[in-house]
Amino acid sequence: MQKCGRQDKQVPGDEIKDETLKSAYSAGMERLRQSGVPEADLDAWYLLEYVTGISRSSYYMEPDRKMSVWQRARYEECLSRREQRIPLQHITGEQEFMGLTFLVDENVLIPRQDTEILVEQALEILKTETLPQCDGKTLFLDMCTGSGCILLSVLHYAGRMGKRVEGTGSDLSEKALDIAKQNAGALGIRAEFICGDLFANIRGKYSMILSNPPYIRSSDIDALQEEVRLHDPREALDGKEDGLYFYRRITDEAREYLLPGGCLIFEIGYDQAEDVSALMNSAGYTEIRVKKDLAGLDRVVCGRYS
Ligand code: GLN
Repeated sequence: MQKCGRQDKQVPGDEIKDETLKSAYSAGMERLRQSGVPEADLDAWYLLEYVTGISRSSYYMEPDRKMSVWQRARYEECLSRREQRIPLQHITGEQEFMGLTFLVDENVLIPRQDTEILVEQALEILKTETLPQCDGKTLFLDMCTGSGCILLSVLHYAGRMGKRVEGTGSDLSEKALDIAKQNAGALGIRAEFICGDLFANIRGKYSMILSNPPYIRSSDIDALQEEVRLHDPREALDGKEDGLYFYRRITDEAREYLLPGGCLIFEIGYDQAEDVSALMNSAGYTEIRVKKDLAGLDRVVCGRYS
């Protein structure tokens, strides 16, 4: 987690009497619990870690360490933002995904752990199956890239596997692409980013097209928890009336942008496997497979197009 500034540096005389890490942490947990924040204990810890830079093990070795006035004030401020149901990741400015740190803000969907299944499946296909290539390279296109978490982690781990790869991320939002570009820079990964309505500005053909498109039914959005409903970009969630709008368009349009035998791989909602598989099947994709997440729910659908 990115630490905020002054961290452990404690100026003598800067401590508040009796304000220890432990007492601040207990008060923080209680405050978030009282406000009905889900996983209050965990969030109170992450915010303490963010503000003080302390690790779990250092905390347990020295729970009575004093906090500086500055740290205490910062912690208070972070707790009060979290009480207002601002997502933890918007307070700390980052989210870990596939073991990599991604910058996030209100312009991108916060990367979800479930989406790691999509990345793992893509890497598994790259490792164990044959994908069409262009000039000896495997080319990836991430449609609706948001923070870039899917594309950049695929490129990172594919590179580690010794594969020659290139990647493009596309999104309708310039602001999201700004974040994706910053993430590419921070992770030291070369990738191309294109702004446009799905394939509108895409040229060329790809070995694999990946996408975690918006897939929540419009009428279900109001029932989502406040952090998601009010703080994730609505356009990153809304899959229109039946939630399948983007699957329909991407399944149809991707055929023109896949190299022969190329792979289309989607993240889906837990109840969308049948519908998305049927869409892919009637568009002529073959080898259609569904992959489950760690909770045993359908999470990924992929297929090939020749
Ligand atoms: N590809 C990004 C992610 O999975 C953003 C997805 C979206 O905006 N729907 O996190």
